[in-house]
Amino acid sequence: MADNIFNISKEKNPSEWFTEIVKVAELADMRYGVKGFLVFQPWSVEAMEKMFIYLEKNLKKRGHKKYWFPALIPEKNFTLEGDHVEGFTPEVFWVEHAGSELLEERLALRPTSETAFYSMFAMWIRSYKDLPFKTYQRANVFRYDTKMTRPFLRSREFHWIETHNAFATEKEAYDNILGDMQTTKDVVFGIYGVPTMVFKRPQWDKFPGADNTYGADAITPGGRVIQQPSTHMLGQNFSKPFNVTFTDENEKEQYAYLTCYGPCVSRMFASVVLTHGDDKGLRFPFEIAPLQVIIIPILADKEPKILKECEKIKELLEKDGISVEIDNSSKRPGEKFYFWEMKGVPLRIEIGPRDLEKKKALLYRRDNGKKIEIEIKNIKSEVVKNGEALSKNLKKIAEKDFVGIVKDCKTVAEIKKVVGKGIARANFCSCGMDGEKCATVIEKESGGEVRGTRIDINEKAKGKCVVCGKAAKEIIYIAKAY
Ligand SMILES: [Zn+2]
Repeated sequence: MADNIFNISKEKNPSEWFTEIVKVAELADMRYGVKGFLVFQPWSVEAMEKMFIYLEKNLKKRGHKKYWFPALIPEKNFTLEGDHVEGFTPEVFWVEHAGSELLEERLALRPTSETAFYSMFAMWIRSYKDLPFKTYQRANVFRYDTKMTRPFLRSREFHWIETHNAFATEKEAYDNILGDMQTTKDVVFGIYGVPTMVFKRPQWDKFPGADNTYGADAITPGGRVIQQPSTHMLGQNFSKPFNVTFTDENEKEQYAYLTCYGPCVSRMFASVVLTHGDDKGLRFPFEIAPLQVIIIPILADKEPKILKECEKIKELLEKDGISVEIDNSSKRPGEKFYFWEMKGVPLRIEIGPRDLEKKKALLYRRDNGKKIEIEIKNIKSEVVKNGEALSKNLKKIAEKDFVGIVKDCKTVAEIKKVVGKGIARANFCSCGMDGEKCATVIEKESGGEVRGTRIDINEKAKGKCVVCGKAAKEIIYIAKAY
């Protein structure tokens, strides 16, 4: 019997690889019975919990205070901002009954919470001294998405953080948006190890009700992108209908500038899986692994001393907040190795009778497959050291996959060739509404989406729009999105 329980080429078939690993590693179960809703299982939940904590720490450090808002939004609030209601209405689940009674007012099951937060901002914010006012919540949100469901990537309920913030000036609001982009970089790449590019989205693709939307994209094997956190400059679009005002230093009444940021952890988890996984299964950065260390006692049934030593090591590591399990099941060691490799546990410790005699153990690293002999007395420092090295190496591997993914294109036909395998870059007339026609041509012909213009690097367009031939004002990126 082959011990190898997972063996799919991620490079050749990333889509099948993803579908299978979700099942085999028990990340989510799709059989719940409500279309578009899935059950998140412990192995993904543990990792996402850790991902949440890193994000929240970062946001708190930047002055955001945590709230818990109701999941229901009164219809009259929901419909106050015109573009917002138009954009979201097709996706809203409505609560119309309570028991057998018809409600006087319908309640929206939050698809996002701008209209919940800003109705309260109007009551809480009085003077310039209350600003900036920075909030966030961790929430599940509901959207009646009609496209095909894919676990973590696209479903009708997802788990995210949303920040909602008010500022006295547009400049401060924009600075906070740059702060959001830095958070994305520090957490999504710094901790999750997922490299991203940051874009200003075209006007036709912005958040309903925003002046501008900025968003990061992660690149997956196969050259597709996955949208990462977006942040929206709402300007005064919401503060006017919601009456979010403050008195300034001259006692004058002013409308606040609002921004919001929505890192979707359940979707970012998909990027983590797709970025780091290999043909044997999952790989996790040490910091966010659902389980960090697996201990495998060899011949423990014959030598109880070994199990005792394993338990001692487990206790020692747990004292430092490292998550550890001992696999003392009746499976053969080879089977256990493959299983925990498929699960993506960063470090494996093996202890057999001969190791124990020498007061040594074997330490295996999931990222590079290397096994080293370590002294049991140094086990804590070895685990920490190798955990760090593993995370660093996974980042390095991910960045390497990034190199050369962008290809310059001079024609729509060239874009078509690149899209799906990589990211096309081209000169373009305009990302304002006047450019939408040209974008439609590109999207129809190539099957990719216009992701926008980069704000994380400096580049200037010269030459002509790849579609209409007018003078190019922007350099755009085109890719297929998950
Ligand atoms: Zn054009």
